[in-house]
Amino acid sequence: MLTRAELKTMLRSRGDEQRGLFEAARAARLTGIGDSCILRGVIEVTNVCRVNCDYCPMRRANTSRNDHYFLSADQIVDAARTIRDSGIDIILLQGGETTGILPQIEEAIPEIIRMFDGSVEVLLNLGCLTTERYRRLKKLGAVSYILKHETSDPHLHRSLRHEALDDRLACLGALKDTGFKIGTGLISGLPGQTLDSIVDDLLLVDRYDADMCSISPFIPARDTPMAQVAAGDLELSLNIVACLRILYPSLLIPSVSAFERAAGGGQTSGLNAGANVLTVNFSSSERQKDYLIYGRDRFVVTADHARKVARIAGLNVRGSVFLPRSGTSSPFPDQSGERARERASRPDLARRINVSAEANPQSNFSDFAPSAADLRTSFEEAGVRPNDVVALAGLRGPDILAGAVALWSIDAIPFPLPPDTHVPFADLIVSSDLTVMAGTGVPDRRGLDRTAVLQLTSGSTNVPKIARRSIESVYDETAGYIGGLGLDFSSCVRIPVPLAHSFGWGVAISAALAGCRLMLDLVSLPSRLARELDEGTISHLAVTPALAGLVATSKPSGDGRLATVLVGAGSASPILLDALRARFGAQPVLGYGSTETGGTFLGSDGIGKPIEAVEVRAPALGQRGELVIETRAPVLGYVGDPPGCDRVWRTGDLIDCEPDGTFRCLGRISGPLRLNSRFVETEPYKAALFRLPEVDDVAFLVLSEDHRNLEVLCAAVAGQGLRREAVAHALANASRQHGACSIFLFDRLPRNTLGKLDRNKLISSIRGGMA
Ligand code: SAH
Ligand code: SF4
Repeated sequence: MLTRAELKTMLRSRGDEQRGLFEAARAARLTGIGDSCILRGVIEVTNVCRVNCDYCPMRRANTSRNDHYFLSADQIVDAARTIRDSGIDIILLQGGETTGILPQIEEAIPEIIRMFDGSVEVLLNLGCLTTERYRRLKKLGAVSYILKHETSDPHLHRSLRHEALDDRLACLGALKDTGFKIGTGLISGLPGQTLDSIVDDLLLVDRYDADMCSISPFIPARDTPMAQVAAGDLELSLNIVACLRILYPSLLIPSVSAFERAAGGGQTSGLNAGANVLTVNFSSSERQKDYLIYGRDRFVVTADHARKVARIAGLNVRGSVFLPRSGTSSPFPDQSGERARERASRPDLARRINVSAEANPQSNFSDFAPSAADLRTSFEEAGVRPNDVVALAGLRGPDILAGAVALWSIDAIPFPLPPDTHVPFADLIVSSDLTVMAGTGVPDRRGLDRTAVLQLTSGSTNVPKIARRSIESVYDETAGYIGGLGLDFSSCVRIPVPLAHSFGWGVAISAALAGCRLMLDLVSLPSRLARELDEGTISHLAVTPALAGLVATSKPSGDGRLATVLVGAGSASPILLDALRARFGAQPVLGYGSTETGGTFLGSDGIGKPIEAVEVRAPALGQRGELVIETRAPVLGYVGDPPGCDRVWRTGDLIDCEPDGTFRCLGRISGPLRLNSRFVETEPYKAALFRLPEVDDVAFLVLSEDHRNLEVLCAAVAGQGLRREAVAHALANASRQHGACSIFLFDRLPRNTLGKLDRNKLISSIRGGMA
């Protein structure tokens, strides 16, 4: 979190510093909700107000020039229809604070919702009302409510509004409790307002868990006690926008019309400082002159003006983010459309990571030595060209990440490999000391143009293949991790597992795209990792079940707490999850995926739930079978195969889809095994074994009995408290039908730190048992 002093420096910035601040804010916006700008339509429903705010021309005491009006329900609905016809799905009903308008509002809301077939965000801005009234409005279907706190300085608040700050904040809290998405906001440049109180304004967003915050400069208005007071400074307002954005990447922040009034192009500046909402005015011109906020010469925003401003700022306009619909939870909503997908490219990935790293003063990615920029220079000097495959052979985690970003920036393809692994092929090879050598070339370049990274599949079959991960799948996986793990600028993510494997790689790239602080060194001793975690700087940890088990049972050396522990690349028992919760106070998240697709499921139970870009094709609810998924991104398959543009991926895993929709992995679907010149299906044996509740894990092997020159089918069965007779009994039926099977019992099967079966170890223990 940024300190108060840092925030004050940011608020004061001008010139180059201010430009840097805005750039950081734009990068934060990109990770928060993407390159988009939300359009709202506002209807000003009444200019009558019970309150007497000194800055506002609608104040109660201003009777001289204030022709009072109340719109009827029909007038409100008519205006809402115009908003709908202009393609906007957020209806903001704004007005003075008076119960006199509420009957019309309550009549209009259901009509508006009917008119939009339910797909509308009714957003209210009607001041302080009773909790009872808020409940009624919510029940009628209003989604969101703006109640600006105006200034968090209680004395200033009372002196300008003649009301208590606490009363207004109590209403804000009541709105949140009622289930509204809430917006707060401040006026900047009020006389007597200090930078410290503006920092309090910024922090109040977090305190009330606000979803929106607006900031507008004070504008002196005629017929108010503040008519002669100097206007608020636009630059300060823009800096506030940027600070809010950096603190809260996904907050909705309007670029208000007062910016445009203060300076031509002011609303574009607001968007460039990190804002992401524009409000279009749909009050009739007659009413616009009666509605006196900012006085009579205010700037009236039309739909054309708003769309133009968004275009100039390079943003796509979009609708409400609070309505349930597909595509809204992605941090890259601009990536979901076909046109935007075309933008998915390796240089775009590099650019997004660089922008996020520069934007976040806390992120240490830019400190990685040598940096991605240095590596890029040395790669270019070594002759790396677009579409080249560059093996990163045995590099440290930070070097793999910096190397990948450098390669992406020149549109080349990284191929990370663990230490002591034979390099199957590459145009160039980067070794652990970062020297670049020529490689032997690439045997088959098909599909590489859409490939983000090449990765060795972890040899669950004995011969590892080389998977082509599609560029689009990196964006989709990232969206899954950012949402599922709650990654943002304030996260510090510790990944002590190898980045040459797809699990560590996926989390690292996602965290880098989210602008997190990263700690990527491999763990040497679990106790050392536990000490790091106890220090309290790390918020997120990504580990395999084996490593999770070791740190969960380590002795605490401090009271560091984690926000999230991601356990991936293997299944974790409920006992392990409980131990993690107890040891680190964190909610464990289980991850599931494959080298070919990246992470596809996340959640707290079983293998989790499919991420947004993934749908389950099989098994059906309540059934057991191979997990088959459909991904939004293409699955490109393996080097050497024709590039499948298929989106359906057969995982090869046997899954139970329980009646409540929880997915549980039972192990690999074993293909037929060759046994004494015929093929044997192991599924019937496996199904029989998993009917025993004590069975946790099963593997099948064909071993030859040398002395008889005969092959034997062996079932390695693991679980606590297994009894041989029970297992034999469970297998009796299958054995009768499909042939005999030798049984070997284990407490647990030998699996490596990534959760893959260690076949050699298993074979030697079985042979030990056979001898
Ligand atoms: N009565 C309601 C909503 C309508 S007023 C309420 O007060 O919540 C909408 C906003 O106009 C107020 O929140 C206030 O922040 C803003 N406003 C009024 N007069 C202003 C002025 N002179 N300069 C800047 N903002 C002003
Ligand atoms: Fe009324 Fe809102 Fe104006 Fe205050 S700011 S006088 S509450 S309309």
